[in-house]
Amino acid sequence: MNEYLKKVLDEIKVKNASEPEFIQAADEVLTTIEPVIEKHPEFENQAILERMLEPERVIMFRVPWIDDNGKTQVNRGYRVQHSSLIGPYKGGLRFHPTVNLSVMKFLAFEQIFKNALTGLPIGGGKGGSDFNPKGKSDNEIMRFCQSFMTELYRHIGQDVDVPAGDIGVGGREIGYLFGQFKRIRNAYEGGVLTGKGVGYGGSLARTEATGYGLVYYMREMLKNHDNQTFEGKTVTISGSGNVAIYACQKAQQLGAKVVAMSDSNGCIYDENGIDLAAIKQIKEVERKRIKEYLNYHPNAKYTERTSDDSPIWEIKTDIALPCATQNEVSLNSAKKLVANGVIAVGEGANMPTPKDAIEFFQKNGVLFAPAKAANAGGVATSAIEMSQNSMRYYYTFDEVDKKLEQIMINIYYSCKNAAKEYGCEGDYVAGANIAAFSKLAKAMVAQGIV
Ligand code: NDP
Repeated sequence: MNEYLKKVLDEIKVKNASEPEFIQAADEVLTTIEPVIEKHPEFENQAILERMLEPERVIMFRVPWIDDNGKTQVNRGYRVQHSSLIGPYKGGLRFHPTVNLSVMKFLAFEQIFKNALTGLPIGGGKGGSDFNPKGKSDNEIMRFCQSFMTELYRHIGQDVDVPAGDIGVGGREIGYLFGQFKRIRNAYEGGVLTGKGVGYGGSLARTEATGYGLVYYMREMLKNHDNQTFEGKTVTISGSGNVAIYACQKAQQLGAKVVAMSDSNGCIYDENGIDLAAIKQIKEVERKRIKEYLNYHPNAKYTERTSDDSPIWEIKTDIALPCATQNEVSLNSAKKLVANGVIAVGEGANMPTPKDAIEFFQKNGVLFAPAKAANAGGVATSAIEMSQNSMRYYYTFDEVDKKLEQIMINIYYSCKNAAKEYGCEGDYVAGANIAAFSKLAKAMVAQGIV
């Protein structure tokens, strides 16, 4: 490995020793951009890597709120403003008990690369809380969101930092967060949050965007490899949240048969193809467990999760789309997928596949679409929402969907061409990292030592 890269990676490991996810994300990028670093020895003198790995700002705060029993609860809030190189900080908010500084920093770091790939003027950030929304009443969710925003509002703004949703933060939470922001600021700054409801500043097709975008990227990748398509392919999708549901919808529209979906408790397998209307009713309306699917389709099969490895990856499939969370496809799961003949894996979630599993897929000729590129459709459409808010105008669903589709096609070719230019054709992980890093490094050099 290049000496400069090695030095930085070693330093990162020491300096962030208690942040395994952040180290994992940094390692994945640094080990793939060697050809660019070799070509630009001046980057070392300007500490380009050190600056790119250090967030511009990390904010941590107390979030007190009162539950329905009148008891005071306290959670920890975060906002990592990683990079404003190419636009205001931009990235989602995650409410999940596993949220900690390491998870926030890995997500913010990934976000700057993803946002650069979209070709739109957005920097990178991420935030959230270790608050667990599961089992909370609507009023508890509202009180938590209001308290969270009562601190966060002073750090964000439509030209400063624009949060959106992520795990545990959907349309309901964004609504409560936006309401509180507007109340405190006494101004209708629509562009301060994205993923808003349609009718008060939200963009049509934002809800669908990450899942649709993932499938658009995969469609382009399949087309470029032996002119393959989704038509007639079997697909398994982990998760049953926002990304998973709309990836399923688009894959089905393109003629694929989605046979399995999951949640953190287990997975369902329906050999007749997943009934997405039932999933939406269970997850989007009733907010229940995926096991309930058996009430709609008693012949489907439910498998409870009993270890770290999700049972969904044991199911035979042509295309696997991990759309739940980080590190959900272990090397063990990757081996099962390969043994069952998987031809393509597309990351809808952020960093769902650890490095050893990615390498295993690639060595075995599986087409692999990395999250930074493949799930960028959500943030790209958030940027389109910001544009609409600035123009005080709305595009139609089809207009947004067409823009999203074109952005995903462009991202695919950026990754493909960058990989080819730097001698690693077909490696989309390297292609995505190189394309994004080149753009960010160029902006960093241009803006001086800041
Ligand atoms: P949701 O909260 O809507 O859904 C998350 C899904 O993943 C649920 O089915 C959930 O199951 C499952 N899940 C969450 N945590 C775990 C876990 N630790 N183990 C197993 N399953 C888990 O989130 P999104 O769909 O918005 O996000 C999913 C992934 O996509 C995340 O990695 C996110 O960062 C990424 N992403 C999201 C974007 C967006 O626009 N929403 C944009 C780009 C990336 P359960 O209900 O049981 O917890």
